[in-house]
This record gives sequence, C-alpha cells and structure tokens, in this order.
Amino acid sequence: MTEIQQVIPPARSAGRGFHAYSAKHLDMLIARAGLPPDERLAVRAVATVLPFRTNAYVVEHLIDWDAAPDDPIYRLVFPQPDMLPAADVARLSDLLAADAPKEQINQAAHEIRMRLNPHPAGQLLLNAPSLNDRPLPGLQHKYPETVLFFPRQGQTCHAYCTYCFRWAQFVDEPELKMATDDISTLVSYLAVHPEVTSVLFTGGDPMIMGAPVLRRYIEPLLHDPRLEHVESIRIGTKSLSYWPQRYVTDPDAEATLKLFEEVTNAGKNLAVMAHFSHPRELEPDILNTAVQNIRQAGGVIRTQAPLIRSINDDAETWRTMWRSQVRMGMVPYYMFVERDTGPQDYFAVPLSRGYEIFRDAYQGVSGLCRTVRGPSMSATPGKVCVDGVATIAGIKVFVLRMIQARDPKLVGSPFFARFDPNATWLSDLEPVFAPRFPYEPAPEGVLPGLWPDEDEPGELVAPVI
Ligand code: SF4
Repeated sequence: MTEIQQVIPPARSAGRGFHAYSAKHLDMLIARAGLPPDERLAVRAVATVLPFRTNAYVVEHLIDWDAAPDDPIYRLVFPQPDMLPAADVARLSDLLAADAPKEQINQAAHEIRMRLNPHPAGQLLLNAPSLNDRPLPGLQHKYPETVLFFPRQGQTCHAYCTYCFRWAQFVDEPELKMATDDISTLVSYLAVHPEVTSVLFTGGDPMIMGAPVLRRYIEPLLHDPRLEHVESIRIGTKSLSYWPQRYVTDPDAEATLKLFEEVTNAGKNLAVMAHFSHPRELEPDILNTAVQNIRQAGGVIRTQAPLIRSINDDAETWRTMWRSQVRMGMVPYYMFVERDTGPQDYFAVPLSRGYEIFRDAYQGVSGLCRTVRGPSMSATPGKVCVDGVATIAGIKVFVLRMIQARDPKLVGSPFFARFDPNATWLSDLEPVFAPRFPYEPAPEGVLPGLWPDEDEPGELVAPVI
C-alpha cells in the first residue's frame, strides 16, 4: 500500500504518554467506524491532500465510536470522503488503488492543494512586516496593536482539525509555510513599534513545544525595558482540548505553569486563546484540572471556535459550550465563520444561518457568557461581524460591523450588505445604501464629495428604491 507521509516533527519528549496517529494509521482507525473499503480508500485519498493527525487521548476519550462516522469529534479529526471535489477524490483513489509511485501521488495532491486557496486574507503578502527594509518571515502585523509570531517548533498540533484554515502549515509545501525561530528579531521589531500592545504566539499550536523552548520565546519579552508597551502575551492553542495533560501530568507541566506565572509577575497579561469546537471536549475531568491550573498560574483563558457544518452548527451546542466554559472560569470570546480556504465548501454554514445560531445561543445564556462576539469573518480588511438581519426602507440587509480593521479608523463602523441566504463569506456580499463597502477604495478619478467621506466610513448614502 502506498503511504503518503505528512510532515510531522518527532514527538518531543519521552515519558508523557502522548501517542500520535498519522496517515499510516488511518485505514486501521477508520475501519473502527465501520466504513466500507471504498469509503476508506476515499478518506485516504483526501488525506493525501489535507493533513491528518490525531492522538490516543482524542481517539479513546473524546470520540463516541458508537456514533461514528457521524460523531462530531470523529468528524473534527477524521477526513470525510466528500471534503474535496468528487473528481479529485476519484483521481487520487485510483492512484492509491493502483499503488502508484509516491511522486505521482504527491504531484496530484500538490495540484489539488494549489486550487484550495491555501493562504486566504492575503496572509503571506499583505501582513508581512519588515525591519530596516528586511522582510521578517514568520511574523505578521495585520492590526496596529497585535503582532503574530509563528515559532518554528510550534507548527504542528496534538491533532489536526479537518476544517483547519492553517492546513498549509502542515503539508509538504515549504513555500506555503510561515515560521521563524528568531526571537531577537521580534524583540528588535517590537522595540521600534510602540503601538504594539499584544504578541500572539500561534501555529499550528505553540503549546506543542516543551517548556524550555517555550521559555526561549517568551522570556525575552518580559523584562526588556524597551518592551514595556507589550501588555499581553497571547497563546493560540487547542491543547486544552486535544491534550490537557500538557498542564497536568506532562513532565514539563509544572515548568510550563511556572513560566505562565512569570508572565503575570512581570506585569503582563497571559491570555490563553483556547479553541473548543464542541461541548464534549469540556467534559473530561482532566480538562477541568488543566483549566484550574492555568488560572492559578494567573492565565486568563478566552475561548473561540469556528462555526462548522456537521460539527457544531446548532444553537444548543454553543449555549452548552459557553455555559460550561463560564462555569470553569473561562471567558467566551469568538464564534468565527469558517475561513475561505481548504474544504470551506464542505464545512461552511451560510451567514444567515450562522447569525441565527449565534442569536439563539446568545439569547439563552446569562450576561457572563455574553462576552462572546460573532459570527465573525477574519477577512482581508479585518474582522467583520454579522450583527443582524434587518429590513430597512423595504430592503432586506445584513447589518455588519468591523470589530477589527487593518485601517483603525474603520473599527466599530457599521455597514450594510444586501441579504443573500446563500452567502457564506464577505466576498459573496454586495453593498447596499452605499456604492462600496467602507474598506474598499474609491475608484480613481471620482470627484471629491461624490462618495462617502474617507474620514467617515460609516456614512450612508440614500438608498435607491
Ligand atoms: S488546532 Fe488549530 S492550527 Fe491545529 S489543526 Fe486545529 S485549527 Fe488548525
């Protein structure tokens, strides 16, 4: 059987009981879900294009195998046969069935990946910072106050989500990856950017790194007098869901929590941006222990996840998640709209339905859960929240608002788009009551005064009825 190996760094330390499964274990694992041979072949075909990784904790403690393959956690980590266009799956299935050479399968997988919009929102080009005219790979500076840092050793995860928008980080396509291990460059960059108040370590999952490596990245940001303006260290992670042992029983759990304490003792906020997709991930006792350990170390856990068809696309799921999170002391933060990359067509929920799910869930929780925002699209111009659906002057519209923007003047700006029940992303929408969306430039040659003032991006133009 031809096996396509994906790029997975070796397990980092012995003695933690962490056991990963990769593409070579896929057939054995999905047989447990009762899939017939042709579907198993199709799943393996999808996994030549999109990354697959899970681990024994997810397999034995989170998935309900009696409900697989429809179980939401199964669907969270195991590729589905129809995640890619049928013709692509058939082509790859034929190659696998014929035991074709690895190079031929890799070439077919590469061609399909290039059609999947691997870096939406202009990530590789638009957000790339530079220092002394030298580009800084592995850093992103999209919003004035926040810099993203992609540590080289943090570009994998304890398990991979099927809907991951960062999937390009995990496949064998070096030119698609963002990563660096140059923390001194980050420090130099921050020293001359006093507007940056927050550094986000992201991946992959930075918490895949052991405590000593994590310390090498975080410690230089804590006591440097040139970095007093950096108020928060954020860590984007799904480790609480996929490997809570990281904060409880791993050999370096204590050292990790001590590092968190040092961040707070240095007068900075340690924000764990935890990704939870489904209430099941919150049920194990060890998760609760992990949460309490982080809180005792001074960390604040904010929770976020995308809204995904067939995994969490109903209000009760979100209501239960937010309530459980608040009960444990976490802060609900974002419901995202699935990004326009990879198998988005498969997982996308229409914006209109996403808004209903958010509203219905929001109406059923106490004010303590209403710290959450959404449904929010992380798009090229910024984060755009669907605030509602309304009829204004006889026209049904989406009420939208920029909650984050590349251009700070646009933050908080409301604007409107013509209602479209099938729209799944900002690019599907058309402006209404204005000739363009506030973040779009005026066409060249238009006389001043004929378009809304650039300084007043929310200004309305009378609707044409
Ligand atoms: S944990 Fe995050 S980065 Fe890792 S696979 Fe899931 S969505 Fe992607």
